[in-house]
Amino acid sequence: MRHDVIVVGGSYAGMAAALQIARARRNVLVIDAGQRRNRFAAHAQGFLGFDGVPPGDIAAIARAQLMRYETVTWVEGEAVAAEGAIGAFDLALADGTRHQGRRLVLATGVRDRLPDIPGLAERWGKSVFHCPYCHGYEIGAGRIGVIAAGPEHLHHMRMLTDWGTVTVLVNGAVPEDAPELEALIAAGIAVDHASVRSIEGTADVALEDRRTLSFDGLFVAPTVDPETPLTRDLGLALTEGPMGPSIAVDEMQQTSVPGVFACGDAATPMHSVSIAVGKGAFAGIAAHRSLIFAAA
Ligand SMILES: Cc1cc2nc3c(=O)[nH]c(=O)nc-3n(C[C@H](O)[C@H](O)[C@H](O)COP(=O)(O)OP(=O)(O)OC[C@H]3O[C@@H](n4cnc5c(N)ncnc54)[C@H](O)[C@@H]3O)c2cc1C
Repeated sequence: MRHDVIVVGGSYAGMAAALQIARARRNVLVIDAGQRRNRFAAHAQGFLGFDGVPPGDIAAIARAQLMRYETVTWVEGEAVAAEGAIGAFDLALADGTRHQGRRLVLATGVRDRLPDIPGLAERWGKSVFHCPYCHGYEIGAGRIGVIAAGPEHLHHMRMLTDWGTVTVLVNGAVPEDAPELEALIAAGIAVDHASVRSIEGTADVALEDRRTLSFDGLFVAPTVDPETPLTRDLGLALTEGPMGPSIAVDEMQQTSVPGVFACGDAATPMHSVSIAVGKGAFAGIAAHRSLIFAAA
């Protein structure tokens, strides 16, 4: 069977896209590998109507509502190869099955590359964060440590003073005489030049000079990778952003390849559930309109 649309990625963006297509009475296949980006966090903040709700619960409610539409098919698995063109795309899954669709929506998210600091990865989403809008409020205007990643990151982290008392841990990422550090100090932010050895306790930072600084939460700047075998097989153009590349899309979420749409974290440098859902809905509508107005 050739589906009207195949959505790859069944999280917030992908389900928002699929919902619009299903509501247009078109058949849509959702393929999902089950690796939502916020699966490390106990609660998702800032999503209207679901503020503070476990992220898995939000996804489960959305999936139950989506599956009420009889034109929706859900396959659990990973798409590992793509070929074809508008009107006739062909996807291969890791289990060897193949699926055909007239349009593709890629809602495959991003992979986070975290700083290689002992103790950091296991605290990701619990006491180590990247997005102040998602987790800053819960720090309770307390002590915030920022592990620097580079000068451009420091500029961004000046915002954190609205969420607590900020100390920037330079950790060798910025020269000691960098003008960005002067600007931070002028803004009332403490700057510590020691190197970070490990993260302990809730958010205690052990430094190489044997001091330990205790915080209520830590912020880091992961780099993100939106590439999958599908982006490479389809030859999608990427665009550079402050945290890494994203899939280039126009105002209709159309990628550089006709008939392929992208949405969610994979296709914007602004990462949140709200934005993923909004862009996902847009991609679903755009894919549906393309079925009607494009020739193939
Ligand atoms: C620790 C942490 C906490 C966060 N907390 C918040 C918060 O409180 N509030 C908030 O608004 N945002 C939060 N975010 C951001 C939020 O998680 C993302 O913005 C959101 O998940 C993006 O949704 P998405 O659908 O684009 O991608 P994702 O949720 O990452 O989903 C992508 C899906 O695509 C699947 N997939 C990928 N490749 C393939 C493939 N080849 N084949 C099949 N399936 C594939 C994945 O398995 C996954 O299920 C947080 C992020 C992190 C890292």
